[in-house]
Amino acid sequence: MPTVAQSTETTDWVSRFADEVIEESERRASGKATSDATAPVVVVASGLSPSGPIHLGNLREVMTPHLVADEIRRRGHQVRHLISWDDYDRYRKVPAGISGVDESWAEHIGKPLTSVPAPKGSAYPNWAEHFKAAMVESLAELGVEFDGISQTEQYTSGVYREQILHAMRHRGDIDAILDQYRTKKAPAKKQQQKAVDEAELEAAEGSGAAAEDDGSSGSAGYFPYKPYCGNCEKDLTTVTAYDDDSTELTYTCTVCAFSETVRLEEFNRGKLVWKVDWPMRWAYEGVVFEPSGVDHSSPGSSFQVGGQIVGIFGGQQPIGPMYAFVGISGMAKMSSSRGGVPTPADALRIMEPQILRWLYARRRPNQSFKIAFDQEIQRLYDEWDKLAAKVADGSALPGDVAAYTRAVGTAAGELPRTARPLPYRTLASVADITAGHQDQALRILSELDPADPLGALDEARPRYDKAEAWINTHVPADQRTIVRAEPDTELLKSLDDASRQSLALLLDGLAEHWSLDGLTHLVYGVPKVQAGFSADATPKELPPEIKTAQRTFFALLYHLLVGRDTGPRLPTLLLAVGQDRVRTLLGQ
Ligand SMILES: [Zn+2]
Repeated sequence: MPTVAQSTETTDWVSRFADEVIEESERRASGKATSDATAPVVVVASGLSPSGPIHLGNLREVMTPHLVADEIRRRGHQVRHLISWDDYDRYRKVPAGISGVDESWAEHIGKPLTSVPAPKGSAYPNWAEHFKAAMVESLAELGVEFDGISQTEQYTSGVYREQILHAMRHRGDIDAILDQYRTKKAPAKKQQQKAVDEAELEAAEGSGAAAEDDGSSGSAGYFPYKPYCGNCEKDLTTVTAYDDDSTELTYTCTVCAFSETVRLEEFNRGKLVWKVDWPMRWAYEGVVFEPSGVDHSSPGSSFQVGGQIVGIFGGQQPIGPMYAFVGISGMAKMSSSRGGVPTPADALRIMEPQILRWLYARRRPNQSFKIAFDQEIQRLYDEWDKLAAKVADGSALPGDVAAYTRAVGTAAGELPRTARPLPYRTLASVADITAGHQDQALRILSELDPADPLGALDEARPRYDKAEAWINTHVPADQRTIVRAEPDTELLKSLDDASRQSLALLLDGLAEHWSLDGLTHLVYGVPKVQAGFSADATPKELPPEIKTAQRTFFALLYHLLVGRDTGPRLPTLLLAVGQDRVRTLLGQ
């Protein structure tokens, strides 16, 4: 049995929501006449639509309840984190830039996502399963424990039969609630009809009309349920008659003109419209916490309307904070194989799961933040390593400790971590310079700290692999480091005496200072010694001109080693190039 990690009952946002959710869960349980004296299972939920690659931005939909669920678990409560796969939703449009997909997929618009073929070459049986699989894999890597619920399975096996019949019986009440919001937009009857027409037009075009989410009224009245056509499988159907006693429902398809009469008490090929479906599931599952994106916060939004409709199903609205947008930095440089929008898997290729968890844990849901795919990732890692050191020596602030604790593990235990977490920027530089030569990379990395050398590259993994992937996929070619094959004889010949002397000082100390710390001391020390100071002199003991002299010296070294003004940090670069080659390139 895994050891249960300690609860972090400090006052961070996660902890505060956990308090609220436990309290609400117990309040609801006490209201029920039950002989069960045990604590209720707390239910939190997320919803994801596998309508295409599930973007990194959507990860907040999962991470917010995950962190809260995890805190509740750490306190010893039982929690179910449901992820509803909205895979019975209609296929709205063909996303751009998906390999193995061409314009012929447009013919499937209007079908359930599980009835659309997967991209060519996929190992999965359909569109939804294909995109769900990538997300499931990322969630496992992130340590997110969840119960996945396929809405296709739920609907097509008749799990929601009673709820559907109930909604149909109460369609007048539902219509009245929805109408409060409709009238704000379309006061005149004519305009209302126009809105419906536009919704149908948009639906036909597959652009995802908002109005279709609450169902529409035909001549037979309002119905919160839409069958998928028995002939063409599309949802552009109109219910033309319904009988509450026999549950006989007649619909016609606007695409293929197919029409049939079915008995809803035994029919499993349709679904409640979104604005009714969501609150129905809150009631069915007893959801106590489910956040949603800012796009759900407007008046008449599905969360707000759902709060009124949920009562029809005898349930209550969950605690539902709105979460802010998560941005990405460094997108311009990204390969745009997926229309330039990265997925959680893309982030996990360049950063460890702990870092990604930390980004979500340390910001309140209403704060937006960016996930770095550019140079910023190196600074982020520096910050993370500093925090880890502070946590280890006990000097970190309680809020920071909480975020760190939530990042490195869950109630089930710690996530696998890199045994020797060498600085990311050093690993990135080494991967940059060695360009895939692992023996070289190991040599350099073991020279960083000769007192405690790295025994195998695996000790620096997976962090090394992430840094290498970042260099290879997100650093533009013109910023990559290419060590000169031959010395720059022109430049060497043109050097003045002071420059020659600086190179000589460096080369003299090279063997003796061959470690990361030693070389750092040496490269900063050379200009000091040249100016008549000790190599150990602190900035306070030195005139400001030393800084200029250091910059000039560094630029000279970069030119001679890599033919540019800048590059990776010099000590790392020198170690990477190796002593013999450094001597050759510096003219010895
Ligand atoms: Zn049809």
